[in-house]
Amino acid sequence: MNRIKRYLKIYGDRDRTARQVVPQGYRGPVTQAEYEGTDSYNDNGVILFEDDLRVVIATGLDTPSANVKTGDMVQVWILHRTLSPLGAIRTGRDNVICGSCPHRGIRRLKANGRYGVVGRRCYVEVDKAATGIWRCYRRGRYRHATASQYESLFGGRYVRFGAYGDPVYIPLDMVASIAAVAKGWTGYTHQWLDSAYVEYRRFFMASVDNDVESFTATAQGWRYFRVRATSDLTVFTNEIRCPASAEGGNLTTCDHCRLCSGSTGDMEGRKSITIIDHSRIAKSQPLISITPLAATA
Ligand code: SF4
Repeated sequence: MNRIKRYLKIYGDRDRTARQVVPQGYRGPVTQAEYEGTDSYNDNGVILFEDDLRVVIATGLDTPSANVKTGDMVQVWILHRTLSPLGAIRTGRDNVICGSCPHRGIRRLKANGRYGVVGRRCYVEVDKAATGIWRCYRRGRYRHATASQYESLFGGRYVRFGAYGDPVYIPLDMVASIAAVAKGWTGYTHQWLDSAYVEYRRFFMASVDNDVESFTATAQGWRYFRVRATSDLTVFTNEIRCPASAEGGNLTTCDHCRLCSGSTGDMEGRKSITIIDHSRIAKSQPLISITPLAATA
């Protein structure tokens, strides 16, 4: 089956009207030959999970992450399996890895007859590490990891679930197994309103963008991570400022702090976290433009 037929089999022909039958960046599923055909595996990462649409990859196994805020954490990426990160964004197919996150922006038909994404304010620079990892995966350079290897891969390490993509798309039992052997972890989800993912509150923070969402998340048993507009100085009594932020005094990094690890079954005395918007476009697109609880899929 050629790649156009493979694409149409997965997605149908909805994009014909947009003249994007096969989006730029689309590659068919990785073949067994690609997996087996390389003699130069990249041992800095492993494939944890794949289905028709997504692949979950852990990196930073050999080389420490260069992320100055998180410190040395194994980074877990949730990527579109067949579309490059940029291709997924351009076509709106990033909904399969980002769900209803309002920071994805909205895909609109523009005056020139082409679709474009407006209002995107995700802080991840997807054309960098995420794209490099996806390309490495597409070349078949990552091995698959099994549950029996979690101890050797994650034992004594700190894990960041969701370096890009929403970690509720990692199977729950896989998250639990990795968390059981890891020294600590962090994770954030924008899908916390969806009851299908309620069990993930043991491990992840609800990502909230305004007061209403923070009250709702608390009422539903989630600890949360609230991003505030630059002008918003309010810190609620159930919150503390992220200690790795400038307003929190740049006291630490996530690998040492690890407060963003969900409720782990006991909310008592555990504060939620707040931070002033530190995204690249905080000034050009202030947080106030985010629609509360918006579903942009
Ligand atoms: S509160 Fe701690 S774990 Fe959460 S983002 Fe800040 S430094 Fe990282």
